[in-house]
Amino acid sequence: MFVSDPTLIAGAAQLGIELTDRQAQQLIRLLDELDDWNQRMNLTAIRERPAQITKHLLDSLSVQPFLHGERVLDVGTGAGFPGLPLAIVNPSRQFMLLDSTAKKLKFIEHAAALLELPNVQTVHTRAENFRPAQRFDIVLSRAVGPVEQFVKWAGHLCVGGGRLLAMKGRYPEDELGKLPSGWKLAAIHRLNVPALDEERHLVELCRSHERL
Ligand code: SAM
Repeated sequence: MFVSDPTLIAGAAQLGIELTDRQAQQLIRLLDELDDWNQRMNLTAIRERPAQITKHLLDSLSVQPFLHGERVLDVGTGAGFPGLPLAIVNPSRQFMLLDSTAKKLKFIEHAAALLELPNVQTVHTRAENFRPAQRFDIVLSRAVGPVEQFVKWAGHLCVGGGRLLAMKGRYPEDELGKLPSGWKLAAIHRLNVPALDEERHLVELCRSHERL
């Protein structure tokens, strides 16, 4: 029998997301599968359930208010974070989860099939080599190197008027001084991840010629 997690339900609500029973179930099942696969391959170092709830699920969901448009790309998604939790709570958006490591994508493909997520696709490539037929409204990343590197690797994947979103821990002051030309800071958002006593920031970038 499925037992929902009160921290997850309350935390999501704090982020403005009223999880349906099905979504809560999908999120917990995702962690169960991650635990199972983690016994055979090293997908994540976060193995305790309370930490998985905060650092994988709620941390991923904390960017929900900053999504717009239909197409979202998660660059360097690893085992599917933040892409998979966001795909679960956004069934009407399309998520492309990209990573240069194939074994992690196998896990994502397995989880997307098991959890019946038709809005998830994967791509195995380096971001800088990716040339999709259609670009993305939101290109986001968590824990994939400095902001300037992310922009160099993934800036071409964003539509005009779209946003690059880099999820960071501490305020990344040093990195912000090194933005490649063509991009500027639209905003920095302080993220409050429920049940997590750590700093989180979201760097939002847009093309330099855009009006804010
Ligand atoms: N985003 C996930 C998370 O927060 O749990 C994984 C973070 S992990 C530290 C960084 C991931 O980025 C790795 O899975 C690595 O394979 C991927 N990566 C690094 N550089 C990349 C690039 N240029 N293109 C695609 N993937 C890349």
